[in-house]
Amino acid sequence: MAPSSTTPPPPSTTDVLIVGAGPAGLALAASLRQLGVDHVLIDRYDAVQPGSKAAAIQPRALEYLDRIGVADRLVQAGDRGRGFRLHDRTQTLLSASYDKLDTPYPFVLLVSQQTTETHLLARLEELGGMVHRGHKFLGYTPDFPGVAATVAGPDGVLRSISARYLVGCDGVYSAVRTATGIGFPGNAPEQLFAIADIRVNSDALPKEDTTFFLSAAGMLLVSPLAGGLHRVVGPARGPAAPTATEVAELLAERGPRSDGIEVTEVVSASTYRVQERVAERFSEGPVFLAGDAAHTHSPAGGQGMNTGIQDAGNLAWKLHAVLSGLAPAALLDTYHHERHPIAAGLVAFTSQFAKLATLRDPAEGELRNRVFAAAAGVPGVTEWITTKLAQLDLGYTSEPDRGLPRVGARVSPNAVPSAGLRWTLALDQPDHTSEHSGLAVRHVPGLESPLLVRPDGYLAAHGVPTEPEKVLDHLSQYLPANPTR
Ligand SMILES: Cc1cc2nc3c(=O)[nH]c(=O)nc-3n(C[C@H](O)[C@H](O)[C@H](O)COP(=O)(O)OP(=O)(O)OC[C@H]3O[C@@H](n4cnc5c(N)ncnc54)[C@H](O)[C@@H]3O)c2cc1C
Repeated sequence: MAPSSTTPPPPSTTDVLIVGAGPAGLALAASLRQLGVDHVLIDRYDAVQPGSKAAAIQPRALEYLDRIGVADRLVQAGDRGRGFRLHDRTQTLLSASYDKLDTPYPFVLLVSQQTTETHLLARLEELGGMVHRGHKFLGYTPDFPGVAATVAGPDGVLRSISARYLVGCDGVYSAVRTATGIGFPGNAPEQLFAIADIRVNSDALPKEDTTFFLSAAGMLLVSPLAGGLHRVVGPARGPAAPTATEVAELLAERGPRSDGIEVTEVVSASTYRVQERVAERFSEGPVFLAGDAAHTHSPAGGQGMNTGIQDAGNLAWKLHAVLSGLAPAALLDTYHHERHPIAAGLVAFTSQFAKLATLRDPAEGELRNRVFAAAAGVPGVTEWITTKLAQLDLGYTSEPDRGLPRVGARVSPNAVPSAGLRWTLALDQPDHTSEHSGLAVRHVPGLESPLLVRPDGYLAAHGVPTEPEKVLDHLSQYLPANPTR
């Protein structure tokens, strides 16, 4: 596609320069725009790229997307998946449904990444923001206290953009990360995978659950997609994208035992090698990394894009708080401190699961399946799995859960309704239910002590004063602690 002639050149100065308008960059830009933070978002491409790619949105990401006004329209645009299933060729080993999860979104939202990006972009534009398309980030030099970035425009002209902060949301081969010198350690297992989004002539494929078929022949992931499609992921025969015949053979060899599943259409297909990597640091001075630029892993659990959106949610309110003088610059150090362990844990979890799913020894595979089937009957196991996949267990606290409020833990919007990107004071007394600039007050009957919830939905403090003005005056004491790195 030719560069859009309507894309104006970006301004030469800004508070925040965001490189990359994928899901992470768009979520960050929409959040900053909603918060009134001056920023520039550039992308080397001329339009949202086609393709399903990350085709599942998890409940925790939807909770954040609700804060920036995108969740409802995505729910309208997608289909609701029930959950997750482990299956051998003939029977279910373990079935985990999201429907009992404590969230306004107790389902996996099946929607293509293209649709997600299109709705994020629409929201950004509704808020008055835009993407400067056809602009490629080339590098930066320090320009105290920020950076001077060099950007090539669609006309080939090089421009300099001075920014107080630079955020690399530019994907797994991030030029921003490379320019900072931040390492991206990890590994890329040898196994090449085939991925195909297909249409079939049969009812035999799962319609509600992302299903891992674990048989003596090996693993096959079959997941329903929006619009009646299915995604199939299995080992590739070679570097070429799988054909309809090859996908049908994979299904026949490893999928549900069923006659005559015919692949009537291959909507998209490719091969990929999983990379399991986490950036050494998520920030370096005024430069931050978010999304795939900061972490990448097997896409099989449908977690990557979701984590990137939440990186954006963690960073956005902190940039706003610092740039508006509400918080000291040290608050930004907590971005790495909070998000790096989440990414490292995710990579370890998906890697461990992938190893189990791809065991080659049939005897070990048989034992694995028996263990999964036995685990399914143990109380709490399927709840643990769904909570983890839905990312509802993620938080920034090391306190054990004793049923009491924990600073840094997620606050369910079912308990304290969200209030966009404002701080929220939850009170038992109804007479304080009103709006204050920068702070929403919510009436939560039966609350034992007043709660203060961060703009990204985590508990900032409990036992705070009931007067909104007092809370606002002392907001700095409720910020996450500045860690030593
Ligand atoms: C086939 C496939 C299937 C996948 N399936 C899943 C799945 O099921 N679940 C899941 O969670 N994830 C999946 N993923 C991964 C998912 O697509 C990524 O996690 C997600 O796109 C990351 O979002 P991001 O915004 O961090 O980066 P990206 O989406 O990679 O966006 C980066 C943006 O930066 C721009 N950019 C890059 N360099 C520059 C530069 N120098 N200057 C300007 N702009 C630049 C690019 O044009 C791009 O728009 C899949 C990926 C693929 C390829």
